[in-house]
Amino acid sequence: MQDYDMLIGGNWAASAGKQWVESVNPFTAKAWARVPRGTVADVDRAVSAAKHAFVSKEWSGMTASARGLLLFRLADLIAKHAEEIAKVETTDNGKLINEMAGQLRYIPQWFRYFGGLADKLEGRVIPIDKPGVLNFTRYEPLGVVVAITPWNSPLMLATWKLAPLLAAGNTVVWKPSEHSSVSALILGKLFKEAGFPDGVVNIVTGFGNEIGERLVTHPDVAKVAFTGGDQTGQHVYEQAARGIKHVTLELGGKSANIVFDDASMDDAIKGVISGIFAASGQTCIAGSRALIHRPIYNEFVGKLVEFAKTAKMGDPLSTETQVGPVTTPQQYKKVLEYIQIAKDEGAKCVLGGGPAKRPELGDGWFVEPTIFSEVDPKMRIAQEEVFGPVLSIIPFDTEEQAIEIANGTIFGLAAGVWTKSMRRALVMSEKLQAGTVWVNTYMAVSYLSPFGGYKRSGIGRESGIESIREYLQTKSIWIDVSESTPNPFVMR
Ligand code: NAD
Repeated sequence: MQDYDMLIGGNWAASAGKQWVESVNPFTAKAWARVPRGTVADVDRAVSAAKHAFVSKEWSGMTASARGLLLFRLADLIAKHAEEIAKVETTDNGKLINEMAGQLRYIPQWFRYFGGLADKLEGRVIPIDKPGVLNFTRYEPLGVVVAITPWNSPLMLATWKLAPLLAAGNTVVWKPSEHSSVSALILGKLFKEAGFPDGVVNIVTGFGNEIGERLVTHPDVAKVAFTGGDQTGQHVYEQAARGIKHVTLELGGKSANIVFDDASMDDAIKGVISGIFAASGQTCIAGSRALIHRPIYNEFVGKLVEFAKTAKMGDPLSTETQVGPVTTPQQYKKVLEYIQIAKDEGAKCVLGGGPAKRPELGDGWFVEPTIFSEVDPKMRIAQEEVFGPVLSIIPFDTEEQAIEIANGTIFGLAAGVWTKSMRRALVMSEKLQAGTVWVNTYMAVSYLSPFGGYKRSGIGRESGIESIREYLQTKSIWIDVSESTPNPFVMR
């Protein structure tokens, strides 16, 4: 069992409460590492370190170009350690090594992109309507940002916050998920090695229900950037509102993968499978509802089930494995409860439908890839986020009906459309209420393209140029260059 310390003010620190959180490997169901169980006192120390670092000469006096270079250096270090960190993430969250390694190899691009953007945050000179006055704007950082992240893609989702917020000149207190904190603490070492001044990046580990409130409401915190479930997100939003803090929220989804009768059936089947089973459904953009055009419904469902049956379950550290375990016992229980709810509601289970117990799966929390057909869009299984390998298939007849069903949940994170018709692709992508729409592909993300939710899936955007604005505020500066002071009793 390995112990890891938190990073506060440039120092490695144990919890003030001297307690630990065990990190459990979802494949073996055994603890393999420990991280400090942070306390409110630890949060206060971290926020104080971030506050001092924000105004320090080392950070606030650094040129934007130099900040960018630090991010480049970090990117190179992550690339160097990508395979080793990916193994840590798979051991922590049970997601496939193929996926975690792919993410780790891609993460440096975010640091390079935002590192390059750091010295291009140009204000404007405004042709102001007052004679003798120069008016211009500057983009300035917000201050101390609290970043709170979930367990499903630990470093990728944190990177989407850390890269822009640091490029913009903020400092950060980052709380990773209690289920997957080890890779964050390893990244902490790389931040130090890259040369970030002490206190710019602080990492506090522990339980959200113990230290979350202090993080979100601390008077010296300017912004909360949160990724997680919509219920937690709502709570965080309410608490942050009390302190009038800036907030971005990346929350859950119930994304629809819509297949029309003119689509390539083989491609659409692969898209639907990858949308729901690739990460055992544990991704916010899981295509957990497949909407299938009635003329191809029976054929599609038959072929989809045959394909899904071939999915190889096993050790997520093996590159042969296609479906890994669910990450936590709580999540395992929740997924099985939803399967039961779907059965009770009358959905027809055409694949899986329970825990997967086989000798090669050891003690891992495996759920059989599960498919329900003939799902009514109003059923809970078609409305609520399961975050597991459970697909609901819903038939539809017309484009209008597909749009109505797809938009008929509280969420709006993403959607997929499978069609060969250009007209249909455009009409559907305009009418779908989702922050991301993929046509004839699924789950593509990039540092270059904005990502975020409509409706209850979130507020704000991550990735792409505009996302850096989430970590900046605009200052308007007026300089009077006229020779005489105007009448002081009249507003200019
Ligand atoms: P979660 O909401 O349980 O936890 C997320 C984070 O919030 C964790 O670090 C947790 O410790 C912390 N937290 C918990 N209670 C808190 C509180 N009271 N105050 C402050 N912080 C608190 O989510 P999870 O189970 O870790 O992750 C799964 C969820 O995340 C899913 O709903 C998924 O859709 C969502 N998610 C969204 C995106 C996105 O980009 N939109 C990406 C990945 C995951």
